[in-house]
Amino acid sequence: MLWSAFSHLTTVAVERVVVDERVVTFMARAVVPKAPCPGSGTLSRRVHGSYRRRLADLAVADRTVAIDLRVRRFLCSAADCRRRTFVEQIDDLTERYVRRTPALRRALERIALALTGRPAARLAAHLSVPASPNSLIRLLRRLPEKQTTPAPRVLGVDDFALKKGHVYGTILLDMETGERVDVLPDRTAETFTAWLREHSGAEIVCRDRASAYAEAVRSACPDATQVADDFTCGRTCARPSRSASPRTAAWLTAAETGSTSWRLSSPPSKIR
Ligand SMILES: [Zn+2]
Repeated sequence: MLWSAFSHLTTVAVERVVVDERVVTFMARAVVPKAPCPGSGTLSRRVHGSYRRRLADLAVADRTVAIDLRVRRFLCSAADCRRRTFVEQIDDLTERYVRRTPALRRALERIALALTGRPAARLAAHLSVPASPNSLIRLLRRLPEKQTTPAPRVLGVDDFALKKGHVYGTILLDMETGERVDVLPDRTAETFTAWLREHSGAEIVCRDRASAYAEAVRSACPDATQVADDFTCGRTCARPSRSASPRTAAWLTAAETGSTSWRLSSPPSKIR
C-alpha cells in the first residue's frame, strides 16, 4: 500500500531509506540486466562502469525527497554506432541531464505556469520541492510551444444573425477587455465544444440561456463557472468595454443596476 506511492521506484532496488528532519533519501541501484543504446537502439549487457546520480523527487510529509541512484554505463556493441558507451535511463525515474524525477519536473512546470518567477519559487519551497526562479524559467522555456492561444479568463459567448431567422453564428468575447476573441460559423454545441478544447483557460463563461452553449461548456471545460442571463457578471468580471457589443453593454448595465433578471431586447445583428 505504502509502496504504491513510490511506483517509480519499483524498477530499481532500494537498498536503504534514510530519514532525517528535513530530507528522506532513498539509496537505490539500477538492476535491469540490459539497456538500449540511445544511438543505435541496440540492447547491451556489457557494463563499463557505474556512478551515483542524485535526483530530487516529489516531497513526502513535508520532507524533501532525494533518490541517490547508482546507474551504469554500458558498452555499445553495434559496429556502426558512434557511441562507444552510454548511460542507462530508468523509466519514470531518470531523464538525460535532468536532476529531478519526471514527476517532480511536471509538478514544477505546473507551478511555474501558474505563477512564474519568484512567487513560483516561494510556493515550491513551501511545498518542500525547492527550485530557484531561474530554474523554473528554464523549465518553462523547455516546454513545447503551444499551437493555440488560451481562452480569456472570462469568456462571453453569444449568437448573432448572419441571415436573420435562417443562419446564425457565434461571437466570442473577452469580457474583461471587451475585445472580440473569435467568430464561429454556427451556434452548435459541437463547434463551440471544439473551440473550447483548442483554447483552454476559461474560468467563467457568460452565455445566454441557449442549451447548446451550456452543453459545450459542461463537456469541454466542466470546471468553468457558467453565468446565464440573470447572472452576476459585473461582480465577477472586470469591467468590459461598453462598446464591445450590444450584449456586453447590456451585461454591464445589468451589473451596474443590480438587475438580477433581464433579457437583451435584440441580439447583435452584425459583427463589429
Ligand atoms: Zn550504440
